[in-house]
Amino acid sequence: MDGLQARLETLVAEVRAAADWGIPANYIPELAAVDPAQVGVAICLADGTEVSAGDARVPFSIQSISKVFSLAAVLGRVGDDLWRRVGREPSGTAFDSIFLLEHEGGRPRNPFINAGALVTTDALLGNREPRQALTEVVGLLRAAAEDGEIHIDKAVAQSEKDTADRNMALLHYLKSHGNLFNAPDRVLGTYVHHCAIEMTCRQLARAGRMLALLPGAPRLVSPLRARRINALMMTCGQYDGSGNFAFRVGLPGKSGVGGGILMVAPGKASIAVWSPGLDDNGNSKVGTWLAERIAEHTGWSAFAPS
Ligand code: GLU
Repeated sequence: MDGLQARLETLVAEVRAAADWGIPANYIPELAAVDPAQVGVAICLADGTEVSAGDARVPFSIQSISKVFSLAAVLGRVGDDLWRRVGREPSGTAFDSIFLLEHEGGRPRNPFINAGALVTTDALLGNREPRQALTEVVGLLRAAAEDGEIHIDKAVAQSEKDTADRNMALLHYLKSHGNLFNAPDRVLGTYVHHCAIEMTCRQLARAGRMLALLPGAPRLVSPLRARRINALMMTCGQYDGSGNFAFRVGLPGKSGVGGGILMVAPGKASIAVWSPGLDDNGNSKVGTWLAERIAEHTGWSAFAPS
């Protein structure tokens, strides 16, 4: 696409000059230690070309972005039965909130808030060993990105496991409602490991091609499933900032507290941005700003022809 590479470089230069980075997630010691002054962007286009700028080759912790891929894996495994255990509505509450669970009988609002992702992880485990479930998620990402290097950062997983009181509380609460079949610590171990997958913007943009249904992307999910996952990303992908993200950017996206955001412009592009500093909702501050500028430049939107 004309001028896209130059535009990305200008945007990255603007971000670096402004140096208004925000503060990285601080509830996991390993993430709190990440240098906030980093920004990367990578875009895979429908014609097979890729453009990137800034720190697009620096690996970061994908955190909640992994929930998109664990969901895709679970839907392949149990199909629509998952929806008996997890809803499909935005929550309007923080990513780790227990509030709605109490009001709604232990059925989490959607698979992208922590409670929903923990149920999804339980379904992913089924009767298997954690190692097998994790091999499936990492394998899906490797196949989607066509990159065998993608791996789990064990130090981040351990750091999160050591500080997981809130997720443990959610797990016990789900169990008390009969919505968890594996032992809480087993589900927690699997969950923190898939959240601790490490990727670069370039790898993430490539992995997103299957959801954007780009020609030539590996076909790992059906078009209907990709469309539905995209719908959930649009309505629930940025925690209680999802409405604002749809307003500002207008593309399905999933953020993670590591500062990454994966977005899809169906049929046109898969986009990954990363900058570790977060806004009040736990979404990348600079990443959201960049996403907005990219949507403006390209005209890509789920709500208008482009
Ligand atoms: N592993 C993080 C947690 O469970 C994921 C949070 C996120 O990226 O939203 O708290």
